Amino acid sequence: MSKVVLIPGHGGFDSGSCNQTNGVRECDGNLAVALKVKELLEYNNFEVAISRTTDIACGRATTINQDINNQIYFGNNSGADIAVAIHFNGSINETAHGVETLYSQYNRLTDKNIKLATLLLEELVSATGLTNRGLKDSGKSVGVVRAINIPVSLTECAFVTNPNEVIWCSDSDHQLILAKAHAKAICRYYGIEYKENGGIDYMKVGMEVSDMKVTMNGNTVIKSVILTVDGKDTTYIPAVALRNDGYIVTWDGVNNQVNITK
Ligand SMILES: [Zn+2]
Repeated sequence: MSKVVLIPGHGGFDSGSCNQTNGVRECDGNLAVALKVKELLEYNNFEVAISRTTDIACGRATTINQDINNQIYFGNNSGADIAVAIHFNGSINETAHGVETLYSQYNRLTDKNIKLATLLLEELVSATGLTNRGLKDSGKSVGVVRAINIPVSLTECAFVTNPNEVIWCSDSDHQLILAKAHAKAICRYYGIEYKENGGIDYMKVGMEVSDMKVTMNGNTVIKSVILTVDGKDTTYIPAVALRNDGYIVTWDGVNNQVNITK
């Protein structure tokens, strides 16, 4: 089974870039997208290691250097085949916009890294319609793409500082589009067909919880959902875990309903 490392950037003491108008933080968008990519990849039979699942820096680092070193260590020691770091961009110029992906000419796997970065860029641009800022050689400036010794790329999904693009960082449906683009690109990198996950579509954090229903063998078991994941209220249903236990989990988008049968 192929194994992928996901590295959602920043977290904990380091929020990354922030939108000064509405307070949206890069670290939160990075994590939300990465968790969705994780579920999509697992549905496509990948094993996934993720560098953080909550709002902490990698390995509970307390400085930027520590955080980057921990991310590199995590990338190099997870037994994975490829690594993708997920970020949103930021600028003091709020009109700056678009998508870019990074590689480093100083990484010995440059050819593979360019291939991975190219596929990620293609899928992100086509899924979002955002401006293609291109493939960027980050030289020695970005630790993870320089020092991780498996094929690696870093995505800058959109600008959290741009008033028109901040929604890609803050809104669950937009995050899901970005997540699918990452998962598709990773499948393409391996030359395998991407399978759409019927389950991910009901992972809608922020949806009015009373809007969603869960049925078990046709009987409504939950009318008003308040699930907690890592201490936060969410409407996330652990579809993959249920599937692994032999349940059939389907999403009925018309009735906003999760159907679970065994
Ligand atoms: Zn960042």
